[in-house]
Amino acid sequence: GSATFSLSRHLSSTNSIGQVNASVNALIHVASQANESRRSGRGLSDCTVAVKDNICTTDMPTTCSSRMLLDFTSPVDATVVQLLRDEGATLVGKTNCDEFGMGSLNTYSVHGPVVNPFQATNSDVAWENRERRSAGGSSGGSAAAVAAELCDAALATDTGGSIRLPASYCGVVGLKPSYGIISRWGVVSYADSLDCVGVMAKGVRTVKAIFNVLSAYDPKDPTAARVDTRHKAATACQEHGPRHSGRSLSGLRVGIPQEYFPMELNPNTLKPLRRVLEHLRARGASLIPVSLPSTSYALSAYYVISSAEASSNMARYDGIEYGLYKEPPPGSDKTKTANVYAHSRSAGFGKEVQKRILLGTYALSADAFDNYFLQAQRVRNLIRADFDRVFAIPNVLSSTPQNNFGEGVHVLLHPSAIRTAPPLPSLEHDIDSSKSDASILDAYVQDVLTVPASLAGLPAMSVPTGFGEDGWPVGVSIVGQWGCDEMVIDIGRECE
Ligand code: GLN
Repeated sequence: GSATFSLSRHLSSTNSIGQVNASVNALIHVASQANESRRSGRGLSDCTVAVKDNICTTDMPTTCSSRMLLDFTSPVDATVVQLLRDEGATLVGKTNCDEFGMGSLNTYSVHGPVVNPFQATNSDVAWENRERRSAGGSSGGSAAAVAAELCDAALATDTGGSIRLPASYCGVVGLKPSYGIISRWGVVSYADSLDCVGVMAKGVRTVKAIFNVLSAYDPKDPTAARVDTRHKAATACQEHGPRHSGRSLSGLRVGIPQEYFPMELNPNTLKPLRRVLEHLRARGASLIPVSLPSTSYALSAYYVISSAEASSNMARYDGIEYGLYKEPPPGSDKTKTANVYAHSRSAGFGKEVQKRILLGTYALSADAFDNYFLQAQRVRNLIRADFDRVFAIPNVLSSTPQNNFGEGVHVLLHPSAIRTAPPLPSLEHDIDSSKSDASILDAYVQDVLTVPASLAGLPAMSVPTGFGEDGWPVGVSIVGQWGCDEMVIDIGRECE
């Protein structure tokens, strides 16, 4: 595609990036002008991109917003970063996030919370008088950097909704591609079976242009979808995809999953969604109610699986091989590595990461394995089967044949989030002490609409569709069959 990039208005001077960023806290590191190696004449030479701080870069730090990695600079560029550089993109900095990607509100960061910049770019209210709302997490910095026009686009990661949720809260587009389509090499792992790298930007066209650059097979990523699998998926999309042409969308079958309007959904967000549906129907698309009955189990299964994988991934930060080294206190036996581990890990990891490690380690212990970990895997299979049952396009990764061709839907459409951006706790202190069970659950529930597509590895994109009754952005999500990323992107464009 020939997307044109409106050079972000703050690019001209690192200083003004700094000014805007001081209020939003989206970038934890701003690239020096010298680092901006702009190469003209390539596809992205006019494009400025910010990179989430869990994606490795050689010329900027990679802290994962953790005290554990505050001093870490990677000796390698992630494949996605290399691809952007090769296309001439300018990297403007690293974006704030929840520690190691664990969180939904971008409040669990050693660099402090990200402030949703929505009012910053949309009102005349002075900063002091503005409502401080969350940018969403864990990729809140990436969403906020795009929304505040510090860059044209941002790279981010999505394990259970970390791109789509902040995109929805900040009023930008966020794409989580099919699992395995974009390389994860050089991206710090949170939960390997779920982690995806994706793209955020103001418009779908920019997202598409960057997705096209990044979606190349990378032999360095052992979980990358193989070239023949990609071809099979492309053929399946061609054969069973919608056959509309020109302005008309007739022939496009859009599924509306009834389980995605749960009790927790704030009715405040429904009006903009209805408008998109009206618009699609007016253009000729058929709206078809569908049921994905296992949806209500997805959130629990997600937190068991993601914590289990996280507990294993976090084991490498022991203060010796990787990460912060904390001298054990006087009197303790320093020759015991366990002492070094315990002190380094207690000092290096924040509360939320420590909680996930405990939860995950428990789910993997002999006593709990069957009841928690295996049960969650069974739920994951049910979720996958739910999606395969409603899509018109076969899942090329699945061995069980489907027989709903011609009847199924091409994409699903649902609200991205159960509400508009929640208010930020006003003080650091509140963030740390708001650890009542209720508020923790509240944060986890934000992911209820995004985790099913993550568990099934499906492409999903949040597109801003207007504003709730409180005047804050609302996003709609388009979800497609595995490998139908392009279809999801193209239908997302119709929802803008
Ligand atoms: N909020 C979810 C979690 O904390 C999702 C995070 C993500 O997608 N990285 O696990």
